[in-house]
Amino acid sequence: MEKRQFQTESKKLLDMMINSIYTHREIFLRELISNASDAIDKRYFRSLTDTESGLPREEYEISLSVDKDAGTLTVSDNGCGMSAQELENNLGTIAKSGSQDFKTENNSDTVDIIGQFGVGFYSAFMVADKVTVTSKVYGADKAYRWESEGVDGYTLEECEKETVGTEIVLHIKPDTEEEDYCEYLDQYSLQRLVKKYSDYIHYPIRMDFETEKPVEGDSGKTEKVIERRTLNSITPIWKKPASEVTEEEYKNFYSSKYYDYEAPLKTLHYKQEGTVEYTALLFIPSHAPFDYYSKSYEKGLTLYSSGVMIMDRCADMLPDYFSFVKGLIDSSDISLNISRETLQQDYQLRTIAKAVEKKIKNELAKLMETDREKYETFFKAFGSQLKYGVYSDYGAHKELLQDLIMFISSNEMKYVTLKEYVGRMPEGQKSIYYACGDTPEKALRLPQAAAVKEKGYEILLLSEDIDEFTLQTLMNYEDKKFVNVSTDELDLATEDENKKLEKENESGKELLDFIKESVGGLNSVKFSNTLGGHPAALSSEGGMSIEMARVLSKMPDAGEGLKASLVLEINSSHAVTEKIKALYESDKEKCKKYCKLLYAQARLLSGLEIEDAEEFTSLVSELMV
Ligand code: ADP
Ligand code: MG
Repeated sequence: MEKRQFQTESKKLLDMMINSIYTHREIFLRELISNASDAIDKRYFRSLTDTESGLPREEYEISLSVDKDAGTLTVSDNGCGMSAQELENNLGTIAKSGSQDFKTENNSDTVDIIGQFGVGFYSAFMVADKVTVTSKVYGADKAYRWESEGVDGYTLEECEKETVGTEIVLHIKPDTEEEDYCEYLDQYSLQRLVKKYSDYIHYPIRMDFETEKPVEGDSGKTEKVIERRTLNSITPIWKKPASEVTEEEYKNFYSSKYYDYEAPLKTLHYKQEGTVEYTALLFIPSHAPFDYYSKSYEKGLTLYSSGVMIMDRCADMLPDYFSFVKGLIDSSDISLNISRETLQQDYQLRTIAKAVEKKIKNELAKLMETDREKYETFFKAFGSQLKYGVYSDYGAHKELLQDLIMFISSNEMKYVTLKEYVGRMPEGQKSIYYACGDTPEKALRLPQAAAVKEKGYEILLLSEDIDEFTLQTLMNYEDKKFVNVSTDELDLATEDENKKLEKENESGKELLDFIKESVGGLNSVKFSNTLGGHPAALSSEGGMSIEMARVLSKMPDAGEGLKASLVLEINSSHAVTEKIKALYESDKEKCKKYCKLLYAQARLLSGLEIEDAEEFTSLVSELMV
């Protein structure tokens, strides 16, 4: 028979997976059982509209059987089955979810290969050296067998199978020094694995169990009996009262469903009663999934109608700013034949989605209050998403989100909320100040930030692209305006100081014009009294700050117009300014050079590149000799 090749990417991945020292080999069983359960879900759901194709609900089962002599473990189900084409498509290609990403990720040894790349089925090769899948779909007269010994490829042929569904035979590997594969042929181990990873599966997982029973009438003697046992407790975890579910069970459910070995940061399990009734089991992961900030990430909650899964990952159930939440909603109020198209019009669903959103918000606010450390962990992972949420939809959600966001503060470089910031503003402080930089430390190094700090005011240190847009969208918080320290909005000085400055600017107009001319590209040059000990700094006039212009110009469709109107501020009381004033009178050529140097320094401090590096270095060299 012709041996077909796996797609190249699949081959590499498969090879990696089989040969990598993977500490969680045992999860292959969970993966196969999950697939079986999904397949039954599909068949059951289909049978609701097409009564022909189904079985009575109680007849669905997942079955495990062991043949010790042959060294095989078989996992079978009476789910939807796979056609020849499906066997080829589903099992012949791995890494649908992006082999490229895989390559960049695979250096970290904790990476959850299985889950992240949709390769659950292939985990079978971690324990088996040959896998045979026999499958038949409803209504077909033919069944097909797919068989593979790993990377070399696979075969696909027609075969006999009486019942609809899928049977997977694993030829378990021989034991090695490091690994006892024989445990996967042991009924007690298998029972333990089912309990550990698949207890929540809501179809029975059954296995013939061999036990010793006392022989009736003959005391002391025992005989071998085989009894069929159901290994899982079947009741879906979310249907149990929260008080009866252990942390361990939540964690297992979470990691098997959402492919994350780290425990969730927070689990929300509650039953809502009232006009619409539903049960929710929601998780907030403790770290962002590898693809979270990319287009390939799909948000959503799974929808169940009285225990029957009707939609996987329903995006409409979660707003974008809470897209990190994983979980499910089960409600008898959701109609069974809802489709993705009719979803948005469904009143019940919209009501549930609103309630879920509110719940998540309240729980996050509570977490912030009660466990700040945990909240900060959460915020490090998903804070950008919340800040983006404030900005998006023209600020429509800002009320909801503004108290959930935090920024690093100049105050000990710790996170601060807007409420905390305003709450500890000293008397006399009019605005909420912020500074932008690549890192919070760099933002704090801006000359204008130094001046604000000298005044005893706290500064929000913005270092993410979205940050300033978020604050611009908020505009103010509790009537306090947000002010970027390196713009003309900085309002630190007293009226008297400003009057004095105005006079200086008027009398120094000739020099200031000369500087503007010498440097070029500036909107204006003026004396400043808010630069701390620095000789000069850049700021902007008008709505576009230096930082915003920088962020916007990185966008793919950025036009030329995205420039900040630059202002060179010169410290009126700095020795360098005195020197420039003197040179202006005595040596205009030299004065011009000094102006250029001053401007270059200011650019550097603002995180901008020096426009003409060659000119700059030769000017510095000239100074040095
Ligand atoms: P995932 O479950 O993440 O899609 P898997 O590698 O576990 O990835 O499975 C690949 C696909 O193979 C499944 O999506 C499903 O379509 C199909 N499949 C696997 N096992 C079964 C089964 N027991 N019955 C029917 N289809 C299955
Ligand atoms: Mg799977």
